[in-house]
Amino acid sequence: MARMPTDPAARLSRKPLSTKRRSDTRPRVLILGGGFAGLSAALALDAHRYDVSLIDRQRYFEFLPNIHELVSAVKRPELLRLPLDAAMRRAGHRFVHDSVAGIDPQAQTVAMQRRKRALAYELLIVALGSVDATHGVPGVGEHAQGFRSAASCSQIAKRLDQLAARRKPARVIIVGGGISGVEALGEMLRRYRTHAQLQFTLVEARERLLPAAPPALDAHIRSLCAPHRVAFELGTPVKRVHARSVELVGGRSLPSDLTVWTGGPTVPALLAQAGLSIPGAWVPVRDSLQSTLHPLVLIAGDTAALPKPLAKQAYHALDMGTFAAANAERLLAGRAPLPFRPSRKPQLISFGDLSCFLVAGQLVLAGVGLAAGKEAVFELVMAQLDPQPWWQRLPSMANRSQRAAHALLWPSLSSLPALRRQAQVSILSSP
Ligand SMILES: Cc1cc2nc3c(=O)[nH]c(=O)nc-3n(C[C@H](O)[C@H](O)[C@H](O)COP(=O)(O)OP(=O)(O)OC[C@H]3O[C@@H](n4cnc5c(N)ncnc54)[C@H](O)[C@@H]3O)c2cc1C
Repeated sequence: MARMPTDPAARLSRKPLSTKRRSDTRPRVLILGGGFAGLSAALALDAHRYDVSLIDRQRYFEFLPNIHELVSAVKRPELLRLPLDAAMRRAGHRFVHDSVAGIDPQAQTVAMQRRKRALAYELLIVALGSVDATHGVPGVGEHAQGFRSAASCSQIAKRLDQLAARRKPARVIIVGGGISGVEALGEMLRRYRTHAQLQFTLVEARERLLPAAPPALDAHIRSLCAPHRVAFELGTPVKRVHARSVELVGGRSLPSDLTVWTGGPTVPALLAQAGLSIPGAWVPVRDSLQSTLHPLVLIAGDTAALPKPLAKQAYHALDMGTFAAANAERLLAGRAPLPFRPSRKPQLISFGDLSCFLVAGQLVLAGVGLAAGKEAVFELVMAQLDPQPWWQRLPSMANRSQRAAHALLWPSLSSLPALRRQAQVSILSSP
């Protein structure tokens, strides 16, 4: 690779970037992470103009916002996944199945876990998402199931099936009353609320469920749970997780046969090691998504900390990925990058087959029928990210739709009261 001037701003003024020692003159773009942001960035880049490699430790893109449906077996893992090698092949890019071990923004290289040679880049897009925050609570990694991958949700489903098959009482504890914790509880109630031996407890450090949403939602969810064997421990942080119990700050201990940890997202450690952020902090970026310290590094998705904070949401990650690709093109052509303007969209939070909530600022709507909206978003985004020609996509789309309709809609349409319930939407809070 031709040597670059050390001043990043000087590098940006070159047009286009030099790649003299390679026969391929296309600038090398590396994308780290094949989730919402990384995959959408890769699909937006033209393989005729850029030499694009996407690196991910998993072979699949996973649709994380619906992984809770694996807990109730409403969906199977393959419905939530797209193979990254096939997606990259069709886009004309390269897929590297490996774990990123380190980033050297000065040398413009990325080190892998398995490959000996580091990969060089002219422009880097970092889209490594987030990891589960343990908040320093001992025992989480050893004794609790995480809730951040299809594999962990499938493990939870398996354990729940074992507990439901037993004759003796079993206690399930969900730690975290944010979106993941609430959606996990909803799916557990969908599948297991008729199993009298299963008792569910949701533990949350703050005083109410979904603290970022209007308070009416907390009261409504708790009223939906009242007829079932669900207990809430709110305002009670967890001190330690043990193999068969969860110890609360204050000394009480709750016996547990399965502990599910939904402690929220935090930044992967390797970004601080690369000097892109300080330990434990999201990576600071300009409104162009460029790292504040290294302008040839664009950060997209959960990992980025924009000047104006943004919720860690899949639709923002999708938009940021596409936008990072457009700014990568501008930077590589020596043009000034544009500012990213996030679009606001309502949030859909499902609660098994008991309800679904639409939250847009202070407006909260509740109704089982809203689940169809969440399912439609899933279908549309999967279709958008699946780069097969539409006629090849049809079988998998039909399969997804048919299974979803069977699992989600049919049970609620099969009786008149259920049909009425499906059509009811109530306003829990208004602006
Ligand atoms: C349970 C759950 C429910 C959610 N529900 C919603 C919802 O309803 N609506 C919504 O909008 N958002 C929801 N989210 C948030 C949404 O999933 C994230 O905001 C989104 O996935 C972020 O996209 P991303 O591309 O930044 O990261 P991700 O989609 O997480 O992708 C990161 C990629 O990087 C890869 N990776 C990470 N580290 C390495 C490494 N060292 N080497 C190689 N590869 C690596 C991972 O394998 C992954 O493929 C939910 C998240 C969870 C966990």
